[in-house]
Amino acid sequence: MQTVFHPAQRAHDPKNFLSSGMRKPNPEQPARIYALMGAVERLGHEVVTPADHGLGPIAAIHTAEYISFLRRIHGLWAAVPGASEEVIPNIHPGRQEASYPSSAVGLAGYHMADTACPISADTFGSAYWSAQTALTGADLVLGGAKHAYALSRPPGHHAFADLAGGFCFFNNSAIAAQAALAAGRRPAILDVDLHHGNGTQGIFYARGDVLTVSIHADPSGFYPFFWGHAQERGTGAGLGANLNLPLPRGTSDEGFLAGLEPGLQRVTDFGADFLVVALGLDPFEGDPLAGLGVTTPGFARIAAAIAGLGLPTLIVQEGGYLCPELGANLESFLGSFETAHR
Ligand SMILES: [Zn+2]
Repeated sequence: MQTVFHPAQRAHDPKNFLSSGMRKPNPEQPARIYALMGAVERLGHEVVTPADHGLGPIAAIHTAEYISFLRRIHGLWAAVPGASEEVIPNIHPGRQEASYPSSAVGLAGYHMADTACPISADTFGSAYWSAQTALTGADLVLGGAKHAYALSRPPGHHAFADLAGGFCFFNNSAIAAQAALAAGRRPAILDVDLHHGNGTQGIFYARGDVLTVSIHADPSGFYPFFWGHAQERGTGAGLGANLNLPLPRGTSDEGFLAGLEPGLQRVTDFGADFLVVALGLDPFEGDPLAGLGVTTPGFARIAAAIAGLGLPTLIVQEGGYLCPELGANLESFLGSFETAHR
């Protein structure tokens, strides 16, 4: 398997976020890359540097004003008297009809869902290359590779068309799926991260041309709270093209694998011929975000089940946070996927 990675993804280094009102160190650390890359080296993957596809394929998913916001906001924020070093919102338009803001504080509240996506001077560059990494991974699979791994960081699946959130800025998996669609494929996104892929769902919710499936910890008591429930099935042309598979907190390997089965069946029924796996390693029992109970060997079983679909597959890195087993969990998933994907 080839791995795609660009070193510019290391620069984004968020410091803080709020959890239940408490300021805590941000878990989406650049050191994640070293753990993940260690697994890639042990597996003997060739590492490919992504090509620069420009903003076009990003703009196929994200609005022009949002892309402009991510590019400009840190500079605008730095000019606000007494502002923090990182852009962190403190006011949001909520659900009311609202006017598009012009001030830095207003823009941050408009385009940032929560406090878990602080923006520094380095964020745009890292998010840009994270998206390019996914796009080059899609190129490899569209060009005939059976599978490829995009080491995208920062992650993407909580980012909506015009909204950052949950450590995410550009929705790498959605951007890759859209590129596959543009190349004439029928893509499905299967999100196995601990958290519901709410941004991905939102982007494709009214569309029937990209299937979105997410298996995750039950959001009734877990991030992202407002999305990820089983009754969210899509709307309009997208009705039936979104499937959520919430699991009780603490679900272990057997329960995860059983819960995944209807998701795999839906991918087959949709007639997908290109699969994007939004790979979170945070369902791990020892992950600091502590939501599910998947073991290191469990990731190998999940990978084998997905590989059994037999589809050309791009694996895009989403969550999975610093713990001693982070690299071993990726190695377990990718090693098994390669073996089972015949
Ligand atoms: Zn996650």
